[in-house]
Amino acid sequence: MARRKQSHGNCAFCGRDMAKGGLSKHLSSCAERQAVIKAANQKPGKSEKLFHLRVQDAYLSDFWLHLEMNGSATLKDLDYYLRAIWLECCGHLSQFSIGGWSGDEIAMRTRIDRVFRPGVELTHIYDFGTSSETLVKAVGVREGKPLTAHPITLMARNLQPEVECVECGQPATWLCLECVYEFDEPGTLCDKHAENHPHDDYGEPMPLVNSPRVGMCGYSGPAEPPY
Ligand SMILES: [Zn+2]
Ligand SMILES: [Zn+2]
Ligand SMILES: [Zn+2]
Ligand SMILES: [Zn+2]
Repeated sequence: MARRKQSHGNCAFCGRDMAKGGLSKHLSSCAERQAVIKAANQKPGKSEKLFHLRVQDAYLSDFWLHLEMNGSATLKDLDYYLRAIWLECCGHLSQFSIGGWSGDEIAMRTRIDRVFRPGVELTHIYDFGTSSETLVKAVGVREGKPLTAHPITLMARNLQPEVECVECGQPATWLCLECVYEFDEPGTLCDKHAENHPHDDYGEPMPLVNSPRVGMCGYSGPAEPPY
């Protein structure tokens, strides 16, 4: 695989570009976020526990999210969000468990505030064939009013990892599955080299979208948040 720089992402509140390692700390002190929190708390509505969840792919650590989630929401809401932003290909089964892969399954109807405390980490598995494994860790909790009408607020997300075209070293935007599965090669291609790439047993090269599931099962994006 081509060399990668340290993973970066943007704070959704102030737009600042930060290295992955700095975001948890930044989010707890971001002035723009504090202003949004203050404005939300002045509106009518109920206060509740709001959880800061750090989400990352279990193996591809360049794919990560920082979410804030209502304590009254359920794991089903989190499953829906993860499917939409990263995972959904053909409606496979999924589950949450505590204590890793083989740990105890936790029912989808479970409320977030019943399962998470700071430090608690759940494993989410999507698809028991070609599995995507996601770690969800509560890194903080606050009392307040939700920032939006949705159960989850996206606070930060990794920028698309930079990978190089195997032919020319320019930034790659396409992936050839035949290279990956038949030749054990990265299969990453720029626009130009995707156009006349010789392989088609797995179809045309597919777009590299910002998801850890690219190249797995029938996943083809769009890797956009649902709200
Ligand atoms: Zn910020
Ligand atoms: Zn699938
Ligand atoms: Zn190229
Ligand atoms: Zn190929």
